[in-house]
Amino acid sequence: MARKAGRRVYLDHNATAPLRPQARQAALSCLEGPGNASSVHAEGRAARAILERARTHVAHLAGAESRCVVFTSGATEALALGLHPSPEMDGQFAQCDILLASAVEHPAVLRGHRFAEMETLAVDSRGRLDLDALESALKRHAAAGRRAMVAVMAANNETGVLQPVAEAARLSRAHDALVLCDAVQAAGRMKLDMSVLDVDFLSLSAHKIGGLQGAGALVLARAGHRPLAMLAGGGQERGRRAGTENVPACAAFGAAAATALADLETEALRLSALRDRLEREIVDSLPGVRVMGAGAERLPNTTLLTFEDVRAETLVIALDLAGISISSGSACSSGKVGASHVLAAMQVPAEWAGGAIRLSLGWSSCEDDVDLAVEAFRKVVPRVRGRSIRAA
Ligand code: PLP
Repeated sequence: MARKAGRRVYLDHNATAPLRPQARQAALSCLEGPGNASSVHAEGRAARAILERARTHVAHLAGAESRCVVFTSGATEALALGLHPSPEMDGQFAQCDILLASAVEHPAVLRGHRFAEMETLAVDSRGRLDLDALESALKRHAAAGRRAMVAVMAANNETGVLQPVAEAARLSRAHDALVLCDAVQAAGRMKLDMSVLDVDFLSLSAHKIGGLQGAGALVLARAGHRPLAMLAGGGQERGRRAGTENVPACAAFGAAAATALADLETEALRLSALRDRLEREIVDSLPGVRVMGAGAERLPNTTLLTFEDVRAETLVIALDLAGISISSGSACSSGKVGASHVLAAMQVPAEWAGGAIRLSLGWSSCEDDVDLAVEAFRKVVPRVRGRSIRAA
């Protein structure tokens, strides 16, 4: 393969995006000072100023007010904080009896967290939440005097398929349900506005947008919304999340959010052109390849391809050796090989689902990456095809 020595192609932004230079710079400058953002002295005030600037940038990314951003250690923690059956909403506890979650949510939602009861909702063959299924579940629970919290992600991490969040929120409101939107993959890749979406809680993760790992946020629709804190301790984050804030990681999160937001429209166009070419050239040059979620509105950077007669994990390893980094299925806790619950929910037959790999582009992706990736797929797929299936 015509690959320059050492040149790797990173097509796994949905797992973790490379650190943006602006985020790196923001984190590095925090390491110069010792300040704790809760201290009253000059160093503390400097850390506080950095933290609040980051909060404003993160709020803008979600179309929310800065005081509605609660910094956490990542989206998993943000989701655990938001998925509580009795959050305080403007001074009143909103008691929810059940969590209704689309079947394609991330495992961090499907764990249900502090909910004792959860029901999953069907999606269609393209992986979009079935709004009729949501409405009938809402009606059934409302008729039994039960209130729901509905979890619907903005965009799926495996397929990139956009979910009908605003429509789901409208149905939920009509049945007095609360709504949580996991916007981890959509953030920085499409416009988000909490008030337009009309959701109560929204989760974000810094490392998916080019910040550092270990930072995220739960964004609240209004400052009067108070999820029940999971950690007892100091009064950080307005008493909603105890523990000294990770100022360098939050600063990097803020810088990544500001950069992603400033470049949102141009990057969406650039990435969708790269992604479409990548997809087209692979599909056109190899037999037995399908695009999952094709025909649905998708994120501009993501494609989930399935290869007939190929085992995804064999392909991932062979491509890794050829210098191309991709993942099979969701691969959030990489290395784990298991059937994708997203493809199962889309009723993709097992023989197709077993050969599914995800390519996700981002700020560091360029035309050369597409050329090199296509070239590698053309070489590697015929080599691994059938072999791994027969071996299994
Ligand atoms: N939600 C979605 C859609 C994700 O893709 C991920 C991570 O892949 C998470 C939540 C968890 O994010 P974090 O790694 O910040 O805990």
